[in-house]
Amino acid sequence: MAGTALLSGMPLVSAIGGAQNKKKLGIALVGLGSYSTYQLAPGLQDAEHCYLAGIVTGTPEKENVWMDKYGIPKENVYNYENFDSIAKNDSIDIVYVVLPNSMHADFSIRAARAGKHVICEKPMAMSVAECDAIIDACKKSGVKLSVGYRMQSDPYTNEIKRLVSERPYGKVMYVSSDAGYISRGNPDQWRLDRTLSGGGALMNMGVYSIQSNIYGVGHNPISISAQEFSTRPEYFKDTDESITAQMEFPNGEVGHLFTSHNANANRLFVSFEKGWVELNPCHSYGPISGRTSEGTEIEYPHQSQQKVQMEDFAKHILFGTPNVVPGEMGKRDMVIVEAIYKSIAEGGKRIPLDLGDMGLVKKDK
Ligand code: NAD
Repeated sequence: MAGTALLSGMPLVSAIGGAQNKKKLGIALVGLGSYSTYQLAPGLQDAEHCYLAGIVTGTPEKENVWMDKYGIPKENVYNYENFDSIAKNDSIDIVYVVLPNSMHADFSIRAARAGKHVICEKPMAMSVAECDAIIDACKKSGVKLSVGYRMQSDPYTNEIKRLVSERPYGKVMYVSSDAGYISRGNPDQWRLDRTLSGGGALMNMGVYSIQSNIYGVGHNPISISAQEFSTRPEYFKDTDESITAQMEFPNGEVGHLFTSHNANANRLFVSFEKGWVELNPCHSYGPISGRTSEGTEIEYPHQSQQKVQMEDFAKHILFGTPNVVPGEMGKRDMVIVEAIYKSIAEGGKRIPLDLGDMGLVKKDK
């Protein structure tokens, strides 16, 4: 069981559930809504290092449907009440929390206490304090933690990171990133209910823009100021509709982000001293499309981003490869989210950020 022993000279993962002796890790999805149904479960079907081993659902009617469709045995099916007994189930190595944001911390912490490695969907939690509680619980149990930022495993993102670090176009001067869509559905959906979502466009889509601003520069920002725009207050009663923000970076780079539940936007633009690169579309499930100022198309074969993301986390557990999305990255983004809301509340005031290297993953780590 997790955290029971640090055997001399062996990495902590060796003490956890025997995961290192397995070729493929079992993942249990918690919450069988749209993302689990249409992206994560299909993405796991031809994964090499992980597979769909179990489900946790609050909807009893879904149990048989999923068991039949994916050959999941009854003993690997849980509900929200008996979830903690997953601790006794050795065929589940990773718990993937895919619930409304207000439930992320509770289920991630319970998963960690059950000795399971954790993937928590984005945004990591409702607040920085909740992110800390998840990180602490995982540390105490000696389990690995990741956040569902699928773009961090995507080849287009990695090409941006390469251009930023190898500098064929010189250093970065400016980055701009947009992430939004027009929401016209049920006004009572959880994403528009602050108690369940923690916020609107910024919590849902804005975290993508925060992410791509940061990998588009290669550093964390040192300050942020933000503005909120509202045109449909009768629909967005409780949550932010559109937000813009400007970031300052340590070497003078300027960052801009736009996020919205009232405009379609899906783009990353990085301006270097001697050229530029653009991804458009940038944050969707793919195919992503990219080009540079030289007229070169950036092209990679399309594959499930979710599959690659979960494979990366499984390899981290099995082989000690870098954790592409550590919990600290999710926490850093929540620090920035809180600073954006603070800036808006204070009339667009510049909010200094003291992030250091929080959440940055170095290639050689
Ligand atoms: P969804 O509304 O389709 O599904 C939510 C699930 O939670 C459902 O199974 C529902 O039954 C369950 N649930 C439990 N308690 C609930 C409550 N009080 N209210 C509403 N639903 C409740 O949502 P989704 O699109 O699957 O999103 C789930 C999580 O995944 C969110 O955190 C979201 O941000 C994240 N997500 C991430 C990506 C990505 O690209 N990484 C994409 C979509 C969603």
